[in-house]
Amino acid sequence: MPADQASVRRANLSLVLRHLREHGPRSRAAVAAGTGLNKTTVTSLVAELQARGLVREGGPQHEGAVGRPGLALALRGSTVAALGVEVNVDYIASFATDLGGRILIDRRLSFDAMGSSPEHTLAHLAGVIKDAAGDLDGLGVTLAGITIAVPGLVDVGRGRVGVAPNLGWHDVPIVGHLRRSGLPEVPITVDNDANLAALAEYTSGVAAGTPDLVCLTGEVGVGGGIITGGRLLGGADGFAGEVGHIMVDPAGERCGCGRVGCWETKVGLAELVRAVTPGHAYRTHLRDPEERLAEIEQRLDAGDPRAAGAVAEVARWLGRGAAILVNLLNPRVIVLGGYFARLAGLLIPLAAAELGRVGMSDPARRCRFAASDLGFGAASRGAAGVVVERVLSDPTTVPIRAAPPLHQPHGRR
Ligand SMILES: [Zn+2]
Repeated sequence: MPADQASVRRANLSLVLRHLREHGPRSRAAVAAGTGLNKTTVTSLVAELQARGLVREGGPQHEGAVGRPGLALALRGSTVAALGVEVNVDYIASFATDLGGRILIDRRLSFDAMGSSPEHTLAHLAGVIKDAAGDLDGLGVTLAGITIAVPGLVDVGRGRVGVAPNLGWHDVPIVGHLRRSGLPEVPITVDNDANLAALAEYTSGVAAGTPDLVCLTGEVGVGGGIITGGRLLGGADGFAGEVGHIMVDPAGERCGCGRVGCWETKVGLAELVRAVTPGHAYRTHLRDPEERLAEIEQRLDAGDPRAAGAVAEVARWLGRGAAILVNLLNPRVIVLGGYFARLAGLLIPLAAAELGRVGMSDPARRCRFAASDLGFGAASRGAAGVVVERVLSDPTTVPIRAAPPLHQPHGRR
């Protein structure tokens, strides 16, 4: 098939698949009417989507219906899986969903990426992906693709991480490396963790659908994902949103990026841990961030004034940095992810007061903070969402499983 015809067909396959996803089970005639494609074309496209396991004939709500049994087509969401994996300073998170949105994997493993070489981290990452792929295989679903979330500057087109300061990565060709690790032969992409978290928040978080929002990842590093006018802001090179490295205190501490006084040296989790337990370098007690937070919460509950003071200081700096974002981007909501969400009850009132004090009054007054309910898994969830979106945009990324059926009287799940 000539290249232009192939791309038209891909676009039409996508059109039919999205139509079924949006409108639910319906007949070929209704698909033709709804998409503007002719019925012969729809029949051929549907046959291919069935062969790729993406569409089935007949739907539960139509079973037993009188009149037109077996005519309804439906998205076959349960046979194809999307995998998102996030590598961060002290954990690797994986999240898999099928096309219908059913969660198949949602887990996080402690891992000391900060104290490991890039090679060791990549080997570990490959192991996590193989385990997840094996589990999905066991569930009988086809893995359609993998997206990796990394806290750093990512060249998405070339599959490389330019710099990830808190991982100690410089120019790591992550996709090429994973390709050589014996992973399943599916598309693999890499993207910035905060951008992926913002996509997850925008599609399924506490401020879902808010067209102008900023999502802050509260980890050792602090990244920003910016949705403006309903679209992710990428910038010329896809590097937009590196808010953690805005210099807020020229007399401040040295940052993982090598500069001084970056915002994340004021509000990152490492700084909070250091302020609560002075003398403890962050890495000397490597644990999952949830465990670190449990310890901080224990101290807060016990009335430890040092812990309360440290959290209040983080909150004030959070408000000051938020004022820069509000003046610059005029978001309606700032979603607090990661550890910020866990301490939101303490952080938000003080941060909002500081934002009101130093931000431009109108945009600051109209902007609210919201605690994410996606936890530390937001970026991996967003990464899986990117894979789902890719399948919907190009259904040919899912391999053909069987000869296109001429007729399939009753839906098989
Ligand atoms: Zn920095």
